[in-house]
Amino acid sequence: MGFKLEKEKRKKLEDLKLAESRRVVLTEGTLIELLDGMEEVLGESALIALLYSAGLRRGRRVVEYLKEEEKEWDLEKWLDESLRLPRQEGIFSNYKIDLEKGKIYISNSIECRLERMSGKSYGRCCFTQGYISGILNSLIEGVKVKEVVHKKREGEDFLCIYEIK
Ligand SMILES: [Zn+2]
Repeated sequence: MGFKLEKEKRKKLEDLKLAESRRVVLTEGTLIELLDGMEEVLGESALIALLYSAGLRRGRRVVEYLKEEEKEWDLEKWLDESLRLPRQEGIFSNYKIDLEKGKIYISNSIECRLERMSGKSYGRCCFTQGYISGILNSLIEGVKVKEVVHKKREGEDFLCIYEIK
């Protein structure tokens, strides 16, 4: 008796592992302690730079992973597929791409959720911005990504808006 996942389901499981790593589950409280500890040792500006850099690397890795197979996608499809992976990872709960306006809308980023819990803010999403920049930089050479709206209340959600230039 064999058990075989359908191709689409199997692909989704591979996406979750991002090919090379398994999931680790941390509570938001543990993550806050981890970040506070890093800030205590490194200082605020080094922590912000570290989070941005880690996000950037992760974003690049996502695109690298997706590029392992040859795909004939247009830019919007590439962005959509690339942003789907961090959403599955829990980096944010949802996203919307508006290429005409040059904007990406992110709901409930990990930073917004941690800010809500701890009350502490860096005024922007360092890791998430790095992640999005890493994705975009891998797809469009020389592009700049800036978070222009941070933690705007939208009903039960928090919205951040990124501008692509
Ligand atoms: Zn934000």
